[in-house]
Amino acid sequence: MPGFELFGDKERKQVQDVMDSGVLMRYGFDGMRNGHWKAKELELALAKRMETNHAHLVSSGTAALTVALASAGVGAGDEVIMPTFTFVASFESILALGAVPILVDIDDTLTLNPVAVEKAITPKTKVVMPVHMCGSMANLDALQHLCNKHNLLLLEDACQAIGGTYKGQPLGSIGDLGCFSFDYVKTITCGEGGAVITNNEIYYQNAHKYADHGHDHIGNDRGAESHPFLGYNFRISEMNAAVGLAQLARLEEFLAIQKTNYTILREALSQIPEIVFRSVPEGGEENYSFLNFFMPTEALAQKAHKALAENGVDGCFYWYNNNWHYYKKWEHLTQLKSLGNVPQEVKAQMPDYSKADFSASDHWMGRTISCLIKLGWTEQQVKERAENMVKAIKSVV
Ligand SMILES: *Cc1c(COP(=O)(O)O)cnc(C)c1O
Repeated sequence: MPGFELFGDKERKQVQDVMDSGVLMRYGFDGMRNGHWKAKELELALAKRMETNHAHLVSSGTAALTVALASAGVGAGDEVIMPTFTFVASFESILALGAVPILVDIDDTLTLNPVAVEKAITPKTKVVMPVHMCGSMANLDALQHLCNKHNLLLLEDACQAIGGTYKGQPLGSIGDLGCFSFDYVKTITCGEGGAVITNNEIYYQNAHKYADHGHDHIGNDRGAESHPFLGYNFRISEMNAAVGLAQLARLEEFLAIQKTNYTILREALSQIPEIVFRSVPEGGEENYSFLNFFMPTEALAQKAHKALAENGVDGCFYWYNNNWHYYKKWEHLTQLKSLGNVPQEVKAQMPDYSKADFSASDHWMGRTISCLIKLGWTEQQVKERAENMVKAIKSVV
């Protein structure tokens, strides 16, 4: 997945443009910037690549989720449905707005189970937030259908699946809003950065204002702008945007390498009858940033994970007992350990997750192993890796 592996001359040239003008901010200083508007340029390129009307860059993927929710009017007491398997940013962004994270089971796609989503809908639900984990997507037709039926918004977290598609459309562009992260370990990186994409003019207008203190961005005198509503500062810097501009231009190159490496590993593992690959919804194409598969049982998954490491295969994750990505380790969320007071609405409405039954998620996650696909491997290294993976897994089944 990581674009940082292939940082080079193209990135350096873009950053040098910014260094030469000395304008590190994305807004203003028109006279000094020698015509360089890296953030604006990257927004246009990203919107074009993702086939949406608008893209707005922000400082991180977490900021993108927060800004996307805020732009759509999500606030205190609104319920947002999110999966039990995701990155902590999902609930951080929801809680940042005083909204309530409603955890819902995943299925063999490793993303939201639409049947479980429908059961979790209440009169307070406002958004369904599928997270396209580890390179592949949720069943977006089923979720879109639910959202239409119940008048909810669909927000795609495509931070780990940039470049993947569903029925020919780029992931992130299908819902009302889509979010990307360009942090240091994502498929393409800005160092730190993120983006919101949408076809909705109002959400876009809200997003760029909200992410910059509510500035209306009318005219070219920043100090004289008015503030139609409250905002925060989630701006990206020109330096980070410059790196992203070079990286986005390399997205197809990165995806092709990921696909090649993924395919070699997958074909090798296909020889092992005990392995079942993660299910991809019909019409979906992964971005190949991870190879995900199920072992027959939880005990075998744990053994296989250990054997992989012992056979020198790094970068394979057993998320089930990982600190970051699965609800079981989110005690800070489930016990609402906050530095200050938590909004009344959150306190009153948060489900008691200590009593929740997520055994349907455990059924899949307990057996899941995800292996990161790197860009920098030589063909020889991928082939050796494939052999080592087969050897390791065969030693336990
Ligand atoms: C990385 C990531 C984020 C957050 O992105 P940051 O840029 O690190 O804030 C959100 N969701 C998912 C699924 C991610 O993988």
